[in-house]
Amino acid sequence: MTDVLPPNDLFPPLQIRDELERFFQRRKLPLGDMRAVRNGVFQLHQDYDQMEVGDATKAACKEHFPIPTLEVLERQDSRLDNSSKLLLGTRDGLKIETVIMRAGTGRTTLCISSQVGCTEKCSFCSTGRLGFKRNLSTAEILAQVVTAGRILASEGRRPRNVVFMGMGEPLRNQEAVEEAVAILVNPVAFALSPSRVTVSSLGLPKEMLAFAERFPQVRLALSLHAADDETRSPIMPINQRHNLAELRAALVKIQEIRQSDLLIQFTLFRDRNDSEEHALRLVEFLQGLDTHINLIPYNASDSRDVFQPTLHSRMLRFQEILQEKGFKVTRRYSFGQDIAAACGQLANKSS
Ligand code: SF4
Repeated sequence: MTDVLPPNDLFPPLQIRDELERFFQRRKLPLGDMRAVRNGVFQLHQDYDQMEVGDATKAACKEHFPIPTLEVLERQDSRLDNSSKLLLGTRDGLKIETVIMRAGTGRTTLCISSQVGCTEKCSFCSTGRLGFKRNLSTAEILAQVVTAGRILASEGRRPRNVVFMGMGEPLRNQEAVEEAVAILVNPVAFALSPSRVTVSSLGLPKEMLAFAERFPQVRLALSLHAADDETRSPIMPINQRHNLAELRAALVKIQEIRQSDLLIQFTLFRDRNDSEEHALRLVEFLQGLDTHINLIPYNASDSRDVFQPTLHSRMLRFQEILQEKGFKVTRRYSFGQDIAAACGQLANKSS
């Protein structure tokens, strides 16, 4: 019988309790070390050398369960709001971005990437302009959490929320993303509450439905940005393949499965989608669905950008209309505006 656990190119199988126990038994390692190892990797984001376990345990784990991390090539800290953008390097020389958002309340959110570049071409998005390089593996997705988690551990913090809103469309990399989510919410691994993990899609009906079926408690967000096809298609080309009627039909089915409201991301662009009429179309589109709408001010990359941020007064009026109709609405603060870490701005120039 071999000591090596079944091949797992997803993530070290530390999160599979029975297999880890068998490994410890075969190696005659103290079973009491198992909890410390898992806790060290997933909660405290430690290296094996930092863990209070025996030398034999450290040596065996180092050999069989290397903890995936990514090299931090660059770190930019916002002077505005205490967020940090990490430029991380993959083993094959590609670059991805992860954002740490430290809220004043002490809650920390990680915004992680699921692809290098993106398959979609949303016209306002810097990542979309990069083109698509490849999907990230489950290990690379989770390595972002471990790498950022180590930075946070040195500050006495830990990741409380993980949102898949970085580079890429998560549901175009569904298998790897779903495995990562399963490990994030696994009580013997990262042990995040499912309500603290959010997967955001630009609106892939079949994939969103499948995700909701597997993870009814994990938060699902839809980047909508317009509630009529004429406005949405030029902003999000996906709308030409899956129009709003198809999307709404899927949302109705998803609502029957899910146990919490659907998050609607709506970025407001000046004179594109921010009029009273646009707000009323949104009311109509979401009628009968349990949603929470996040209104997000657009962050223009520069003054030549064809999209410009909405005016504050228009955003307030947009919000008012939705609230008058009984919708839950939050105006979102956009983190990291001075370090191009805000929504739609993740695009390392050299990947
Ligand atoms: S907004 Fe999201 S789905 Fe659209 S191009 Fe950007 S990263 Fe891709």
